[in-house]
Amino acid sequence: MGEVSEVRRAELVSGLGRVRARVSDACAAAGRSPSRVTLVVVTKTYPLPDIRALASLGVRDVGEAREQELRDKCSELGEAVGLRWHVVGRLQRNKARSVGRLAHVVHSVDDERLLPRLSAGAEEVGRELGCFVQVSLDGDPTRGGVTHAGLLPLAEQVAATPPLRLLGVMAVAPMGADPDEAFTRLQELSSRVVLEHPAAVGISAGMSGDLEQAVAHGATHLRVGAAVLGSRSPTG
Ligand SMILES: *Cc1c(COP(=O)(O)O)cnc(C)c1O
Repeated sequence: MGEVSEVRRAELVSGLGRVRARVSDACAAAGRSPSRVTLVVVTKTYPLPDIRALASLGVRDVGEAREQELRDKCSELGEAVGLRWHVVGRLQRNKARSVGRLAHVVHSVDDERLLPRLSAGAEEVGRELGCFVQVSLDGDPTRGGVTHAGLLPLAEQVAATPPLRLLGVMAVAPMGADPDEAFTRLQELSSRVVLEHPAAVGISAGMSGDLEQAVAHGATHLRVGAAVLGSRSPTG
């Protein structure tokens, strides 16, 4: 509880300012409008006062990775601060209903078996749940994401499961890969999804280290933690 120190507030102001400037420079370089790019500040492991301070600095979209932490933070903050909660981490099936209830957007949908639970949770609170289908760009299943071949079938299933709403595709650049190449591939996969689902133009890509490349390749949602909030301490 409580407020952040003056020092911490100044850190957040400058972190957020730096990232916003990077996003607007990247948009200018790509000839894109910054209004088409949503900055999701990934607050996982950071404490509530940081989130309150971010909200007071105009942040509306925040991301969490784990259901338990999402649940704790949502119940502490309530709806009052007007935040939109994004889930960016790997989903466990037995937590999916709760995530469906709490989240506004889920970036990491990668298994059809999550869908009935996510939709049941969203239905309970009477709202739409935006969904990105996460795709694995290097075929390594341990980091989440469907294969390229699995993308269109899962997108189809999301689109057919109201109140889930298919927003588009998501990926994490593979470790050690060239982010330009990775996000080029993601953009190609996105255009295949958009052919079948014209409204699903979202591309969730780009983190602290590669947001410029993501913007250059059409990202509509950036998921940025450390570059705004500073390095995570081991104890969170
Ligand atoms: C933690 C996380 C992020 C944010 O990463 P940073 O390096 O802190 O910017 C983005 N996407 C996913 C899927 C994450 O788990």
